[in-house]
Amino acid sequence: MNVLVINAGSSSLKYQLFDMDTETVAAKGICERIGIDGRLKHTPENGKPVFKADIPLPTHAEAINAVIEKLTSEEYGVISSLEDISAVGHRVVHGGQKFSKSVLIDDNVLSAITDCIPLGPLHNPANLMGIKACQKVMPGVPQVAVFDTAFHQTMPEHAYIYPIPYEYYEKHGWRRYGFHGTSHRYVSQKALEFLGIPAEGSRLITCHLGNGSSLAAIKDGKSIDTTMGLTPLEGLPMGTRSGSIDPAIISFIADYEGLSLQQVMEVLNKDSGVLGISGVSSDFRDIEEEAAKGHKRAKLALDCFYYDVTKYIGAYMAAMGGADAIIFTAGLGENSPELREDVIGRLNGLGIYIDKEKNNFKGQFRDITGEGSKVRVLVIPTNEELVIARDTKEIVEG
Ligand code: AMP
Repeated sequence: MNVLVINAGSSSLKYQLFDMDTETVAAKGICERIGIDGRLKHTPENGKPVFKADIPLPTHAEAINAVIEKLTSEEYGVISSLEDISAVGHRVVHGGQKFSKSVLIDDNVLSAITDCIPLGPLHNPANLMGIKACQKVMPGVPQVAVFDTAFHQTMPEHAYIYPIPYEYYEKHGWRRYGFHGTSHRYVSQKALEFLGIPAEGSRLITCHLGNGSSLAAIKDGKSIDTTMGLTPLEGLPMGTRSGSIDPAIISFIADYEGLSLQQVMEVLNKDSGVLGISGVSSDFRDIEEEAAKGHKRAKLALDCFYYDVTKYIGAYMAAMGGADAIIFTAGLGENSPELREDVIGRLNGLGIYIDKEKNNFKGQFRDITGEGSKVRVLVIPTNEELVIARDTKEIVEG
């Protein structure tokens, strides 16, 4: 059974075709600059050549058409026809309070995802474009929606209610939702398997640290708290996002810098985080490089980030009465030994250690727990696409 996984952005569309008999990727790629001009990179995993060229992609439907054409072509293909795709799984960012798990898409689901647009104005419209494009190009092929927010729907009320007038929550649904749920779910389940402990009674802290970053506290296999909130702007400082700040800063920036509310939000989303502090880059590789050369603000940006990760780990240990394991994942969590060493170093006082030798690697599954550590420390590469493909298969097969 082949499952096509789609992650649609406003002008891009990433895809992976999974052979679910072996859970392997048959081909993957990305359409970029959709609606502008168009570019496609398609990588088959069967030894055929990579296709990379500018091609016109006026809409998401044309992008899906181009993907299908490449997947089935003589020169670059991995399947013989559209019939070889049994189902499509879509990443959908915001499922609001309506979705606590993945679902088969029908008209009701489409309108519920549309209802969530006010909560996810940057992502949900693009995700819907991806779904509608697939419905147009592949009518009759079942489509499944997998939500970033779904895994966090188990959070208790005290973790998701904001201390603002309760009527806002009742009227608009403004509460903590959390994101990266697919990743937190995947790595937490992998950790339980690896540790050989049952979900019941387990306490895990998953650190998804990449361009966007969030931590989750996972008790009894269920998310009980996470750092992102109503939107992915809350929590840790990120590449360009501020994370949590004193909300009064918003009016200070507006008043003193003469910016509109919309412009202030742009500043907090695009000019802040480690980019804002360092003035160097939003990419941690560049910041680590500059910091190593002595760049003061680059060092400060890393220091602020590492400190905040540590603070949330401490908070989640308090929330769960301890932890069995801390798990690092995503671009930075998987690939930065410096980050892991620094963060766990700050936790030495709580009896948590890593093995520096074992920590000295990038991008693989590793147990880096140090001698005598009270909490296991693991690095687990995330695989959100595989979770989407698995959910899709399970739902379609009933
Ligand atoms: P993601 O959003 O999970 O794709 O993560 C992307 C981010 O991970 C990049 O922007 C980098 O900041 C970070 N990253 C990736 N590789 C490395 C590395 N080798 N060292 C430090 N940071 C890295």
